[in-house]
Amino acid sequence: MERENSPNERLAAWKRDPGSSAILTDIDGTLAPIVPTPDMSEVPADLKEILGRLSGEYLLVAGISGRKSEDARKLIGLEDIVYFGNHGFEILRDGEVEMIPEAQPYLEKIQELESHAREELEPQGAFIEEKGITASIHFRNVSKEIGGRCVEFVKAEGERLGLRITVGRGVVEARPPIQADKGSATRRLVREYGPKRAMFLGDDTTDLDAFRALEGLRDEGVLEEILRIGVKSDEGPPEIASEADIVVDGVEGVGEILEALL
Ligand SMILES: [Mg+2]
Repeated sequence: MERENSPNERLAAWKRDPGSSAILTDIDGTLAPIVPTPDMSEVPADLKEILGRLSGEYLLVAGISGRKSEDARKLIGLEDIVYFGNHGFEILRDGEVEMIPEAQPYLEKIQELESHAREELEPQGAFIEEKGITASIHFRNVSKEIGGRCVEFVKAEGERLGLRITVGRGVVEARPPIQADKGSATRRLVREYGPKRAMFLGDDTTDLDAFRALEGLRDEGVLEEILRIGVKSDEGPPEIASEADIVVDGVEGVGEILEALL
């Protein structure tokens, strides 16, 4: 039934009361069009301008990303926005990076894994990306055999050090064994800033954690109103559209929603 209201009607309460409203958004695929390699990503200038104005009016504007929070800031390029990066492990605001407290005890262990990986795997052609509280060991450019060795090595180190290891395409990642994702990031920001209403805009599987966190916060009575804005794409999961309150087409559609919030 709710879905029958037009987007503009649904945004009315937000515009009336921006001081009690939070805008949370994914970055890649939502504010920045997907490009062949992540370092080519860019947030369009008109979107940056709108985000800058929104951050002046609204209680909170936050970018939530799997990237390092510093990289997230570089992409959007605005100082007034809060950046929650590194899969929910770190927040960057007012120029300071802050690690979530539960993750802090694991920082030394991540560093130990990185230094062993540098000694053992770098000479074989792997690239060790130090991301602070998480580490990514890239093996896209080495043979399959060496790639397999990278995965085995990092898994064994992870087990020894008590870290969570995940294997992706050409990359094996180490992180603290605690719950941190876009859902926990959303909950943390809502708890801290105390908005009456919060929205999340996203295009991919990891964004569904944020959608579900908003739903939980509404059911618990923490939030009066929520909006899940799904950015439809060919590669994204179907749940992005089915779980969203409003579905938009690509970064352009996101721009229209953000502009309507001004
Ligand atoms: Mg995305």
